[in-house]
Amino acid sequence: MHLGLGSNVGERLQHLERGVLELRREGVHASRLSRVWVGAYVGTGPAQPEYLNAVVEAHTSLAPLDLLARTQSVEARCGRPPGTHLRPRTLDIDILFFGGWIIRNSRLVVPHPRLAARRFVLEPLHDVAGLENPAWPGLAAQLQLLRKQQPLQVYGALRLRPEDREASHA
Ligand code: ADP
Ligand code: MG
Repeated sequence: MHLGLGSNVGERLQHLERGVLELRREGVHASRLSRVWVGAYVGTGPAQPEYLNAVVEAHTSLAPLDLLARTQSVEARCGRPPGTHLRPRTLDIDILFFGGWIIRNSRLVVPHPRLAARRFVLEPLHDVAGLENPAWPGLAAQLQLLRKQQPLQVYGALRLRPEDREASHA
């Protein structure tokens, strides 16, 4: 499963790092971490400060809606108040893919419906996984297109100790 993490308030890198650690406490074990990317806000609503974004490949035995509840509780613990949809936030966690599953209900849509429009999702996804996913064909070509449209740069790496990353078989 792949999670997209974003932060555009305060100590952004620390928020992303804390998110990975808090997810593990919730039974969501990161096996691969993307680089951290930085870029201007892309989306609707009022202007926002620039974002740091990363993608985590993770393993869990949680069902999708339980995973969503856990990611939301990690967002809240990392300082995100409720009601900050389309607003700046310390930590946003989106479920990008849940294997090849297709999920559509009022609380959860997977694959995440806007992932193909966002270079800040596809670049870090490309860091940790191939862009070939049967649930969403054509992402590699889409990334080529977005590279001409949405400026984005490598910011750095998540500073996590090896034992915080879990073995790739976890
Ligand atoms: P956004 O990330 O688009 O700014 P929020 O983080 O505020 O939005 O989340 C708004 C709602 O999106 C959540 O309450 C959640 O129920 C819903 N949602 C639907 N699909 C997903 C998904 N794949 N990952 C995360 N949240 C999702
Ligand atoms: Mg979100």
